[in-house]
Amino acid sequence: MHEDIKNNLTAMKITLVTALFILVFVAGSLNAQENKRNPYHLNIISGREAYIRLIRADSLKRLLDIRKEVPGIVLDIRYATSNNFTHKKVYTSARAFARLKVVRSLAGVENELSKRGLGLKVFDAYRPYTATLLFWDIIHDTAYVASPATGSRHNRGCAVDVSLVDLKTGKELQMPTPFDDFTPKAGSAYREIPQTAKLNRQQLISIMSAWGFTVYPSEWWHFDFNGWKDYELMDLSFEDLDTIKDQPVIH
Ligand SMILES: [Zn+2]
Repeated sequence: MHEDIKNNLTAMKITLVTALFILVFVAGSLNAQENKRNPYHLNIISGREAYIRLIRADSLKRLLDIRKEVPGIVLDIRYATSNNFTHKKVYTSARAFARLKVVRSLAGVENELSKRGLGLKVFDAYRPYTATLLFWDIIHDTAYVASPATGSRHNRGCAVDVSLVDLKTGKELQMPTPFDDFTPKAGSAYREIPQTAKLNRQQLISIMSAWGFTVYPSEWWHFDFNGWKDYELMDLSFEDLDTIKDQPVIH
């Protein structure tokens, strides 16, 4: 009898120690996974639950599908194709999301442009933080891509890369350079460019400024939404955002 109790106690001890080992191992690997997606320990909203908590606390922080809210807007999401500087397909689908206030402003821009027979073309909008890590893996240079140590304003759903299109032809207006040209010519104030390109660039910058955006000095197509600092970095995939149904339409 005494031997039985001793054996049972030993078995229990072994089970407990094994369980503890498993727990430490699982926690460790989860932590490693988390670190891989957030190696700089930034405040990043990732995962559906964290995002739902965020938008319940502040509904202005919702990320909305730009195409659904601004139906006429043209999308040319380069990172959903291999036609971009990485020569790789980075996004799983050609989608454009941005925070509610950003989308409202884009709707204002689009409405005003339509009176001139013009519209916006979007190359990129909200970019999950994971994509910024991927860009960094490919090109280790802050002149070309945002440093993952700080994240990009695109990760905050507060930046858009845009150009102008003629509504009749659907063609892009002449601009100083193509999208993601990393030469000085892409600078928002660069002077040695054809007059038409200069006027078109000015038209884009002034309308975007009127609706609360600031152009990035080295990229005529990149606009930050004023107040971007109030929005967290995000790492939700487009698919994650699609599955969250409680995102009402703007009225
Ligand atoms: Zn950009």
